[in-house]
Amino acid sequence: MSKKIARWVLVTAVLCGEMLALSGEWASPLLWAYLVGVSAVFLYALLSLDPDLAKERFHPPTPGADAAALRWVRVAALATVIVTPLDRRFHWSAPMPDAVRIAAIVGSLAAFLFCFRAMLTNRFFSSVMRIQDDRGHRVVDRGPYAVIRHPGYAGMIAGVPLMAIAVGSWWGFAVASLYALLILNRVADDAHARWVEEAVWKEAKVPVRCINSAGGFQFFTPTAVDINKKYADYKAVTIEEVIGRDLPLRPSGGMLVGLCPFHEDHVPSLTVYPRTGTFHCYGCFKHGDVIDYVRYREHVSFPEAMDRLEHLITEHAGEA
Ligand SMILES: [Zn+2]
Repeated sequence: MSKKIARWVLVTAVLCGEMLALSGEWASPLLWAYLVGVSAVFLYALLSLDPDLAKERFHPPTPGADAAALRWVRVAALATVIVTPLDRRFHWSAPMPDAVRIAAIVGSLAAFLFCFRAMLTNRFFSSVMRIQDDRGHRVVDRGPYAVIRHPGYAGMIAGVPLMAIAVGSWWGFAVASLYALLILNRVADDAHARWVEEAVWKEAKVPVRCINSAGGFQFFTPTAVDINKKYADYKAVTIEEVIGRDLPLRPSGGMLVGLCPFHEDHVPSLTVYPRTGTFHCYGCFKHGDVIDYVRYREHVSFPEAMDRLEHLITEHAGEA
């Protein structure tokens, strides 16, 4: 408890002190209102946080799959909290109406609260993207997760740009929008997003809103299809056949190699393993099964990739 309070005092003092000192607006009621609000939301979150989750949140046992992407997200977050108050001090932006700022204060606090609610509902919430097999990871469908998938990211995507508006900086808003784009990009193209999409797609009994792995928003609608049959069907299309439609593959040992379509490849870095139905690029490290290949190649989410494969299967049946 005292450790939590100490952490809260430290973070609050650094964030509020930095905002006040860089902006020089020690007497601005709107800035104070916002900082008090943020501190209260953060205190609420810390006090309700389960200790096991706090450990995963602040000291994850592995770096996760996205260490490099996470670094840029942190740089953009830091840039936002520096540019925003400096803009206030030097008046780079046009003045912002109070009504807009007040609306943004409410919106930003609500978004952060939503993000923290997600953290409290999901005992697998982590600061890194990893599927926590060691903790019995499964998909959460309560609380904010019933409203949108990846509510933690959704909360940050809305909350950080609104923070810049709340403090009254258009420049801060521009930098924060870059932060939001980086977060969306982080959800894209990773194994965790596919894992969530696959689980949601299989279990969706009601329509689900999701930030999808193609970096956009999507509605998952309940499917009446026989999932096991779909899986059996797609296994009938071999990975070498699907990749072979896009690029020439040549045999090498028990494998097939070709020029990787995901990066500027001059030596054949893409290796296809027909026996396991997987591919791996030794240049850009993209890897996965035939569904992942279609997801990356077409920039689509898991259910759309399944639909494209089904299309191939139908074509296949037509030829036979
Ligand atoms: Zn590659």
